[in-house]
Amino acid sequence: MRTAIIGGGISGLTTALSLYRLGIDCKVYEKAPELKPVGAGIWMQPNALKVLDWLGVGAQVRANGTALYQVDISNQMLRPFRKTNNSITRDSAGNNIISIHRARLQNILAESLPPGMLETNKSYESHQLIGDSVSIKFTDGVTEADILLGADGIHSKVRASIFPDSTIRYSGQTCWRGVAAMQLPKEFTSTGREAWGKGVRFGFSQVSDNQVYWFGVVKAPQNQKDVSDNLKQKIVDLFPDFHPLVKEIIAKTDESVIIRSDLSDLIRLDHWSSDRVCLMGDAAHATTPNMGQGGGQGIEDAWYLSNLLAISGNHAEAFFRFEQLRRKKVDYIVNTSHQLGKMAHSFVGQSFLKLIMKITPERIMQKQMQKLFDVQEVFV
Ligand SMILES: Cc1cc2nc3c(=O)[nH]c(=O)nc-3n(C[C@H](O)[C@H](O)[C@H](O)COP(=O)(O)OP(=O)(O)OC[C@H]3O[C@@H](n4cnc5c(N)ncnc54)[C@H](O)[C@@H]3O)c2cc1C
Repeated sequence: MRTAIIGGGISGLTTALSLYRLGIDCKVYEKAPELKPVGAGIWMQPNALKVLDWLGVGAQVRANGTALYQVDISNQMLRPFRKTNNSITRDSAGNNIISIHRARLQNILAESLPPGMLETNKSYESHQLIGDSVSIKFTDGVTEADILLGADGIHSKVRASIFPDSTIRYSGQTCWRGVAAMQLPKEFTSTGREAWGKGVRFGFSQVSDNQVYWFGVVKAPQNQKDVSDNLKQKIVDLFPDFHPLVKEIIAKTDESVIIRSDLSDLIRLDHWSSDRVCLMGDAAHATTPNMGQGGGQGIEDAWYLSNLLAISGNHAEAFFRFEQLRRKKVDYIVNTSHQLGKMAHSFVGQSFLKLIMKITPERIMQKQMQKLFDVQEVFV
């Protein structure tokens, strides 16, 4: 089955690697001229690691990242509202969350593909169904495949072509991310931290020996642009009553690597596929990042969709089962993440979440997290 994947992000690359592993012919088309070392950090949770292990790259991801044994939510002085322990952020197989530079993750995935499977500088324009195949038009030519997978992110052109009425929802929050050249004090090197202030959040974790990934989130109107002049000081000023470490992390960041993203998700689509075309990753179910699961869900999609295609051999059946198997978890993540984001930026919401954090028994927390970390076997 000739499979064309549009988009060489986390979802597209892991799907290509999965299909390759299962002996299915595939090619990834990425619009960027090259996979550049951009992006800040990312937390890969145990569900993602299970799939990365199956793909044969888990050890490399662990070796190039930092294991987080806890993720704590704290006040602005970095005092946790409740100290979590490792049993909450680890799965039953002993996988911990790995904090890794995105560029490293992307390189590991891209370099694991056989030569020629990833084609850059290929921008998808449109497609047409012709008989039993799909004719795909790029800005610079046409190719043919049996099925087309749209892994081209939240602003997916593939999605626009099959579901033109899909809607992106802005959360009302914008986020700056960066990577600082430094080592955190010892007490923070193996923990993820998200500190809450009045209507603002700041999080960070070590990603490698001398790199710290951070993010700062505030409420803001959509589509605002930064004037680069003195950007770091402007970000520091958004967190005036935070622990001095926050200021130090921002100060030790090269301003040119700071990225700003408005946090949005995708209003639930009725379907993810149409005929020989199927969406996946952010193109199908983009979420706000408050649960740190968007990339992980794209990786899970790779596992389910590729195995279903391999077992069934029939794309229509595989696409149908894919949605059946994935919907519940993905819907839960998108909705819960949206709610968490809203609550974390309001006084009442924050107070409620702090109370929940304090009173929820550990075994309930563990159970909730294990549900997120679960990846099922695939049967048609
Ligand atoms: C602030 C922030 C923090 C996050 N933190 C985490 C985290 O800690 N853990 C986690 O799991 N997730 C996290 N996420 C979510 C995660 O980044 C996304 O879910 C993930 O990157 C989606 O991957 P994707 O491959 O589906 O889409 P993308 O990463 O958007 O990749 C799409 C690819 O398609 C290409 N493309 C687009 N259009 C075309 C076209 N027309 N033709 C060809 N190629 C095209 C793009 O260039 C891109 O390479 C975070 C997101 C944000 C915004």
